[in-house]
Formats: sequence, C-alpha cells, structure tokens
Amino acid sequence: MLICDGMADRPVPELGNLTPLEAAQKPNMNGIARRGICGLMDTIAPGVPPGSDTAHLALLGYDPFEVYTGRGPFEAAGAGIDLRAGDIAFRVNYATIDEKLIVKDRRAGRIQDTKQLEVSIQRIKLSGTQILFKSTVAHRATLVIRGKGLSHEVSDSDPHKTDTKVLRVKALSSKAAKTAKLLNEFSRKAYKVLKNHPLNQKRSKQGLPQANYLLLRGAGVAPHLEPLQQKYGFKSACVAAAALVKGVCRMAGMEIIEVPGATGGVNTDLNAKAKAALRALENHELVLLHVKGFDEASHDGNHNAKVKLIERTDAMLGQLIDKTDYIMLTIDHTTPVSVHDHTGDPVPIVISGPAVRADDVRNYDERSTAKGGLGRIRGKYLLPILADLMGKSKKFGA
Ligand code: ZN
Ligand code: ZN
Repeated sequence: MLICDGMADRPVPELGNLTPLEAAQKPNMNGIARRGICGLMDTIAPGVPPGSDTAHLALLGYDPFEVYTGRGPFEAAGAGIDLRAGDIAFRVNYATIDEKLIVKDRRAGRIQDTKQLEVSIQRIKLSGTQILFKSTVAHRATLVIRGKGLSHEVSDSDPHKTDTKVLRVKALSSKAAKTAKLLNEFSRKAYKVLKNHPLNQKRSKQGLPQANYLLLRGAGVAPHLEPLQQKYGFKSACVAAAALVKGVCRMAGMEIIEVPGATGGVNTDLNAKAKAALRALENHELVLLHVKGFDEASHDGNHNAKVKLIERTDAMLGQLIDKTDYIMLTIDHTTPVSVHDHTGDPVPIVISGPAVRADDVRNYDERSTAKGGLGRIRGKYLLPILADLMGKSKKFGA
C-alpha cells in the first residue's frame, strides 16, 4: 500500500492547466493504472478536507468520525509512547514566557536539544495520575496523562500568539473539571522546574531565550482501535517518517519499521524506504509505505518540486512492482499548490494484482481515474476491498 501524502492537486496554470500528476513522467504509476482497477476516493467524506491523521485512520479501515477526538494521541503514539484506551494526550511546545506569564516566543528560539529538560519534567508527580512526557523534534513534545475519571474536553493553555498571557486550562464540560485542575497543576510545576533549570540558566547567559514553559494543545483521548490483525487477519507493518502517520499505524497494531535516511521531506531517501518495505514484505502480508514530501512541496506552493518528487517516486515504484502480489497506490488528501493547504477534492486510487477487474483507465491521475471501475468510494472501504481481493474477508450472512 503506497500512500503519497498530499500528491493530488488541482489544475495548475503554470503547468498548462495540468495537475502535477498529469504533468509528470510516471510510466510505472500509469502501468499500474493500465493493469489495475481505478477510481476516486473521498478519504473522509465528500468535501471534507482531511488531516493526515484522520485520513490514515480511514485508510486503515476505521471511521474517523467515531475514533478521532484530537491530534494529541496520534502524535504521542508516533513519539513511541504506548497509549492505552482512555489516556488523554496533548501536543506540547517548549516556549519562552516572561515573569508576567506573557508568551514571548512560542518555540523558545527553536531550541534543538531538550533532553535534559525532558528528564526533569518526567519527574513531576501529580496525585493519583500518571504522567508520560516525551520531547520529540526541536521545540516539540508530547504529554499523556493516565488515570481514572479523566476527560479530553479541556481547552488549550497555548494562546497561539505571542505577547499574550498563557491561558489557564478550562473544563469544556462538567466531566472535565478534575482534568483541567490537574493540567493547571502540571503547568505550574513544569514552569517551576524549567525556569530554575541549569540548561535555561546557561541559555540566558548565552543570550538565548529560555525554554521555560510548556504550552499544551490538541487534547484528545486515545481510542480503542481493533488491531488490523484481528480485524482482517493481516500481519502488517508501516514504513514512514512522519510521526503522525507512525502514530496511527502503531495504534492500529502495525509494526513500525525505522529507516535511516527517511526524513519526511522532498529529499528523503526513497531507495532506503523501498528496500525496507520489501524486507518487511518477507514476513508481513500488508506493508504501508508512506511518502510525505509532496505535502511539504504543496504547502510551499512549489509545483516543480512536486513534479520532481512524483518522478522520483515513480522510479522507486519500479523496484516494488514485480515483487508484490497486490499494489494499492493512493493519496491521503489533495493539497493544491495554489491553496497551500489540504482540500476536500477526492483523490485517485488504483489496485492492481491477480484477478482484479481491470478497467480502461490508462493513466494514474485525478481526471483519468474518475472513469475507473471502483467508481467513487469512501476511504474507510479501501482496506476491506483489498482484504476481500486477498481472500481475507468474512462472509456477512449465510
Ligand atoms: Zn497528509
Ligand atoms: Zn499537509
């Protein structure tokens, strides 16, 4: 299962009103379209711009409207925290505030190494509640609280702008009063630990902004996801660089394969990823291979970088085609270079492999696949269709 993050687009005037997929040379993708069955997919629902997390939940066969409450849990899982159903998780920024609790820098001067700070935060105790805290990349971190009677229905402490006071976490429902109180207690204790920390004293002396406050946002409750192995009988693995995607896959019970050189950017080492995916196929029935750079190029509005990465990905695909039974090629959402963000346009899909009902589609792109045999489907039906082709699904009824 090859998922190209944000690869779908709208017609681009600079490309003669072709989309980057239509403009790119991509013989391997087109070959799959010719041999396979094509269609369009509304990953979440028609007209709903998906996030990468909700999109991947759908692509793995879950209903995002049922299981998704916020981004926190998926980010925490992506950072390697083993979540339990009911855990409340947040995205966290190390930030700089002054004595009046006014935010001066939401990224603490884009601080790089926060390991020492992480260790000190991990020692904070809250009564009756367990804390799991992990620094991730640069100024980012993730917080999980685990205990009885917790709720994700709380507000952010992040004001999302500078020169504004940090916010108190508020309960957004009556069930969340205890959680809000615990989080405010955590924030106070973390501030005390951080502002006196030797690393921050050192930063002050060097003229760098202190990383003296933790801004919390994106509260969500970890859902119970029935593992893919139970749901479809697939032993499955994921090759991805993006933490959010790894998080969704980990929660679905997939094995996460780390690949050195996979960066999640346009310069990612595609060969290393393809090799890792092929190795994983030796002892897994389903491998999800995720390539992220298209989305980055699209957020930057760079259609040329997007076309180039499509052509590099097509070359990589050449290594995979002969060595797999089934190949499913798709995209988690459209990210038009003209919009710089995700939109709700449906994305092209193709499945090729033994005994698929191949259609007349000759090219893998947004307009050609609209005429294919899969018609227009929802994202959550994609994996059941593949499972059925692979002889893995159970009959409904007698
Ligand atoms: Zn995405
Ligand atoms: Zn994006």
